[in-house]
Amino acid sequence: MNSAAEAETRPWAEQVAADDDRYRTQLAYLFDRSAFYREKLRAAGFASIRAVGGLADIAQLPLTEKREIRATCTPDNPIGAHLCATPSEIVRIYSTSGTTGTPSYIPLTAGDLDNWVTASARSYQASGIATGQRIVTTYNAGPFVAGAALAAFDRIGLCHVPVGTGNTERLMLAIELLAPEAAVLTPSYAAYLVEWAAERNTDLRSSSVQRVLVAGEPGGGEPAFRTMLEEGWGARVTEAMGIGDIGPALWGECEAQDGMHLGARGFVHVELIDPETGTALEVVDGATGELVLTHLQHRAAPLLRFRTRDHVEVRTTSCPCGRTGPRVRCIGRTDDMLIVRGVNVFPSAVREVVSAFAPRVSGHILVRPKAPGVKQEPPLPVSVELAPDAAADAALAEAIRERLRELLVVQARVDLVPAGSLGRSEYKSKLVEH
Ligand SMILES: [Zn+2]
Repeated sequence: MNSAAEAETRPWAEQVAADDDRYRTQLAYLFDRSAFYREKLRAAGFASIRAVGGLADIAQLPLTEKREIRATCTPDNPIGAHLCATPSEIVRIYSTSGTTGTPSYIPLTAGDLDNWVTASARSYQASGIATGQRIVTTYNAGPFVAGAALAAFDRIGLCHVPVGTGNTERLMLAIELLAPEAAVLTPSYAAYLVEWAAERNTDLRSSSVQRVLVAGEPGGGEPAFRTMLEEGWGARVTEAMGIGDIGPALWGECEAQDGMHLGARGFVHVELIDPETGTALEVVDGATGELVLTHLQHRAAPLLRFRTRDHVEVRTTSCPCGRTGPRVRCIGRTDDMLIVRGVNVFPSAVREVVSAFAPRVSGHILVRPKAPGVKQEPPLPVSVELAPDAAADAALAEAIRERLRELLVVQARVDLVPAGSLGRSEYKSKLVEH
């Protein structure tokens, strides 16, 4: 097990106390510089910094939604009213893809960028990769914040081999000729490569890659899916997670593989809420809810109680690696969640249940809601792809249906479909047909 840095092993209570000081300073900065938060907090009845209190009182403050920020963008201020820094302080501007076509801009000061790299380096280093090793990456970072995470590999002291997305031959050649110890991919692409290799009788297991670091979408922490990836690659699979507006690799899993540690400790405060009511939930072992994050020492465009739309499960038990603080595993995106007769269902959780039926299934699923919107009437149609040599079999469909009912309390209609008939992705998978 690789050793965690001192900053990551300090008792969590000490971290929270230090974070409380940072939070108060950050709030004073927001009152001073952020037109967006001055107005938002005043409208919520917090006219001054004194009324706001410290971290213990944070749950009384309003949440921040991405669309509120977007609504403040104007031709004169395309970043939004939450912009706090002057143009001369800003050294980089990333963008997020945005579903409406117009990107959201994410500005950073030099200090913000350095903090992002520090946090990302911790998150990735938790995986066990070490100075002097080679790492091949497959992100087309382009305008996206993932670019800042790539700088973390220099910080760790790795030899970074960027190959980008969508050129599998180039990637496999780089692995064969340059012998990297680690590869960074989305879980979907890692799974695609297992199939790609099997179809070409290429032995991925005998490659130099000992660690596969997955990020960019949920899935790397689903036990059955992870097992499939680990067997296919003959490598240890750990995941990392961030959110564009807050930071690129905020969380990273260690070799114990029991949830992601907060690499961004000291930079970000973590809360959990009920996604439907917005009520704060206690961050205790086993709790599930939507992650809400607050910048603690950000300068360019800090966010307060930002809704990430990531639905997570929390672990607070001690970890053998020595890192302290809560860990999370992402169950899915709040946006992908369906409610079937009052029960919350995440497509990634459906995939996890189905994947346990390997080797009879390929692990690919597609949830096909009958009605638009979140609320669905049972049974929920789920297409489950068979493994290449498996035949459709009513007993298998029934067994999957029964397991989904048992574990997720959802009535499903399971349709077995031939191997290769559901879409594959070299980037991120769609688990729901919209
Ligand atoms: Zn650990």
